[in-house]
Amino acid sequence: MRLVLIGAPGSGKGTQAERLTVALGIPHISTGNLLRAAVAAGTKLGREAKAVMEAGKLVSDEIVLGMLEQRLAEPDAEAGFILDGYPRNLAQADALDRLLERLAQPLDSVVLIEVPDQVIIDRVESRFRIEGRADDDPETVRHRLSVYAEQTAPVVAHYRALGELQMVDGVGSVDAVLARIMAILPASAGTTD
Ligand code: AMP
Repeated sequence: MRLVLIGAPGSGKGTQAERLTVALGIPHISTGNLLRAAVAAGTKLGREAKAVMEAGKLVSDEIVLGMLEQRLAEPDAEAGFILDGYPRNLAQADALDRLLERLAQPLDSVVLIEVPDQVIIDRVESRFRIEGRADDDPETVRHRLSVYAEQTAPVVAHYRALGELQMVDGVGSVDAVLARIMAILPASAGTTD
């Protein structure tokens, strides 16, 4: 099962991806998590990405694609994956299409988690108080939401045009949203084809 989760920052896609990874037995691949790990490890890539991430901007397509390719080459991704935070713009969507075509691993589903902006702002404010992620401060969140609207909305249109997009209401408890996602996944969900 190869799944892409799309949603604004704070839409709950990371949380849902964590739950789906357990339910489906396939890895959660978050480009945000991979980048944060590189920042924490102080690698060259991490040092390059740090300031960009703290400003709520997008890290270069080249860096993120290289990182993703490496991650997809790990053995656990052979059974499938839940991609979270990628693709974030049209160039990344095209790069992903080409990469998966080359690997002969087409996507099974693209799920958009929809949450109104005000709910997101409230959620991320409380995450900022609890986790203190630098890019969760209210001003940066507003910037991240505008980056999402400008750059990620065309990605949604791209998958809609391909007939691959499915939408889920992301307002409600974690369990309720998970159940909605599980209900729309293809019948092969949970098997490792
Ligand atoms: P996330 O945890 O997905 O919200 O990502 C946190 C930050 O990491 C983003 O605001 C970007 O700075 C960076 N990032 C994550 N994924 C990508 C991506 N696909 N392309 C560019 N930057 C990314």
